[in-house]
Amino acid sequence: MNRSERLILEELAEYKWPGIYCCSKCGNESYMPGKKAYSRRCKQCKYEESLMKFTAFEGLRFPLEKAYHILQRIVKTAYVNPEANIVPVGKLTDRLATERKYISIIDYVNRCKVKEIPPGVIDERILSIMDKQRPSLRKLSIEFGVEENTMAKFISKLNARITLDEVLLRDSPYERIIDFVNVRYDKELDFYLQMMMHPLVGKWDLGWQQRGKHHFALTYENIESWSVYRIEFSGKEDDYLIPPFKRLERIEYASTIWKILYCSDIDRKKYLNQLSRSE
Ligand SMILES: [Zn+2]
Repeated sequence: MNRSERLILEELAEYKWPGIYCCSKCGNESYMPGKKAYSRRCKQCKYEESLMKFTAFEGLRFPLEKAYHILQRIVKTAYVNPEANIVPVGKLTDRLATERKYISIIDYVNRCKVKEIPPGVIDERILSIMDKQRPSLRKLSIEFGVEENTMAKFISKLNARITLDEVLLRDSPYERIIDFVNVRYDKELDFYLQMMMHPLVGKWDLGWQQRGKHHFALTYENIESWSVYRIEFSGKEDDYLIPPFKRLERIEYASTIWKILYCSDIDRKKYLNQLSRSE
């Protein structure tokens, strides 16, 4: 293991077990180092959990370091800054711009307006320029030397953690991630790493899970960190701007409720009945 790999693993361990460790079998909170590097072994039941277990990196088919850099690349390039000089100088630009190779999107739009190009056409041009700035899935696979299929599977895992109430208009998981990152252009890599490392036990679909009568989602609200919330569907799915669900209580990682829901050795029937009674 090289130094940068070690640093990445240390960082990821912080996101999975942020100052707190919780055994996903018995719910105990004390551990000792496991046999494998960065895994943790429960002091009570001796269950050993690897760092990647229950995260979006679980079952990764290429080196973790690569996955880390791919994500970094997506986060860095998804948002195209309209003020940066990124549009190649073309037919549209006048003599004043010929000394520069690139102009900003804002300048480009202004020039189009001067030439009385219809707004719809300008929009289309801008969209195509922005698409060209971002690496496609194919370009990413070539750049990182990962087969396109393998890359698509990794992207799907990432996408599966982006909850129902986020940009759903795109068909492809990759496009959806690009949109998601683009909308949250002020978010740094750690925001996405935390999303990927948040342990999700059991079967989840688009950051959402049903347990008994109750629904849960991996999401965030005001606070910067991701968490599981108990949710309630509001039934307003026709308008994508309105989240199709409302958040009820936050299920803090390693809280009593989290343990009852996700630790395999704990009887969760009792808790679910209790929830039903309180409604
Ligand atoms: Zn345990």
